[in-house]
Amino acid sequence: STFAEIDLGEAVNENVRRCKYVKPTPVQRHAIPILLARRDLMACAQTGSGKTAAFCFPIIGGIMKEPPSQRQRGSRTAYPQALILSPTRELSIQIHEEARKFSYQTGVRVVVAYGGAPINQQLRELERGVDILVATPGRLVDLLERARVSLQNIRYLALDEADRMLDMGFEPQIRRIVEQMDMPERGQRQTMLFSATFPREIQRLASDFLYNYIFLAV
Ligand code: AMP
Repeated sequence: STFAEIDLGEAVNENVRRCKYVKPTPVQRHAIPILLARRDLMACAQTGSGKTAAFCFPIIGGIMKEPPSQRQRGSRTAYPQALILSPTRELSIQIHEEARKFSYQTGVRVVVAYGGAPINQQLRELERGVDILVATPGRLVDLLERARVSLQNIRYLALDEADRMLDMGFEPQIRRIVEQMDMPERGQRQTMLFSATFPREIQRLASDFLYNYIFLAV
């Protein structure tokens, strides 16, 4: 199969061609149709499997079909429609770079926020508007406490390398973050959990955060 056979919308399909992706990787081939069908997904996938594109394409395509993110005049609070949580600064930067390539000329705006770096530049980027926020859990909790980000409009939630986030002790932050969103009912929020391993703690996160999900192991 090829990407041309997957309907990601014209602009995203063009960006896929620009990235010179011809053949979807196994995780992309299986995950993208599940996500386009608006199902929640728990996927066991390793680094290098192409999982970033697997969750970015349906998010970008979905946002393009929906009204642009609300921004309240005079408010310094950002209202992203999609949140991608990742364990480290390095991974967040990588996801941000890929998501920007895929959303080129779509009008979808991607912003990254991670810890261990000054917050001011990140605040300025958020003030300019954000559809997709890529963030590490600690920095996002900080932004929520400062009321610079609201999660009330989140329609897509992706947790990347969830096992690593738990190994790093981020479970309390992740739970605080997800508590600020609506219940994971069908049609309200689509949630996708990516993890290299599937231990008991990840199964628990999946049953707490996902709704009627499909399990995919590649
Ligand atoms: P990831 O597992 O998402 O970190 O992706 C690993 C690397 O593979 C990244 O450099 C991607 O740009 C690249 N990649 C992802 N999907 C494809 C594809 N379908 N064809 C070629 N390269 C890809």
